[in-house]
Amino acid sequence: MYKLKAMRSKSALHKLKNKHLPYQYDLNIYRGCSHNCIYCYARYMKQYSKELDYEHTIYAKTNIAKVLDSELSKLRDESPVLNLGGVTDSYQESEKTAGLMPSVLKVIKKYRVPIVICTKSDLILRDIELIDDLSKVTRVNVATSISTVDKDLALKLEPGAPSPQARLKMIQVISENTNAMTGVHLFPILPKLTDGYEQLKRSVESSHRSQADYLMLGSLYFNKGCRGYYLNAIKQINPNIYSETLKLYQSGRLDLRYKKELYKMIASIKEGKEGKEGKENKEVITCNSNEVFPFKLSAEEAIEWLKKG
Ligand code: SF4
Repeated sequence: MYKLKAMRSKSALHKLKNKHLPYQYDLNIYRGCSHNCIYCYARYMKQYSKELDYEHTIYAKTNIAKVLDSELSKLRDESPVLNLGGVTDSYQESEKTAGLMPSVLKVIKKYRVPIVICTKSDLILRDIELIDDLSKVTRVNVATSISTVDKDLALKLEPGAPSPQARLKMIQVISENTNAMTGVHLFPILPKLTDGYEQLKRSVESSHRSQADYLMLGSLYFNKGCRGYYLNAIKQINPNIYSETLKLYQSGRLDLRYKKELYKMIASIKEGKEGKEGKENKEVITCNSNEVFPFKLSAEEAIEWLKKG
């Protein structure tokens, strides 16, 4: 359970320093995220606010559309690409009550700004007409992230989020009914928990069935805020893998040999999958340290689209 509180925000857009990302600004309409994923890297936000109890108290920025309108009016010459979310999910449970996204999408349509939305929620389907309208006037990328398609395990890993099946179904509906480019982020793959061959095979195949344009995957990385939380959660979920997990992150980063083997295994699962137009897509390319596997799009098309926004 979480408490929802209203707050007024002085700014909407957060400029990103990383030049390799396909977008230049993050737009977070909430503070905190009730999906409560055990691996959430955004828990570092807690250090910036004594009040912030990341997963139990959610702040809705009720004036966000107005502030965004004013900021976008000053960025007309810059043609920015916006990432809706980044450190919080725009379609988390609170959005059912606060209902901020429709007015945000209307402002985005007014300025025809390309956007990327990654959400673990099928609540986005409530706004499908707005997404469809927007996707006719600018580039819209809708993605979901899953760490597994095992429903019971997902409930332990992402206790506040809709099931992976609901997320993939959402991608299918968006793919079939809008012009948006769609993706599945198989991210993060959790060592010893979701990295088994059969499990990954099911995840890749389910993602492919969702009609997504591409599949992006990445391994788990730790920052200060999530390391302790994740390791504590692992002790509860599967204490047997605790020391193996620690060993893999001995240097602070994931063991490189493990990572290489993991990506090789996924490439072998993906190899030979046919795209929508019957193309064989065997390429594996790197995008900002994650791997992108094209489904309907060729590797170059997917990456160029993401970069240009
Ligand atoms: S959905 Fe994203 S922001 Fe929300 S808890 Fe999970 S990882 Fe964190």
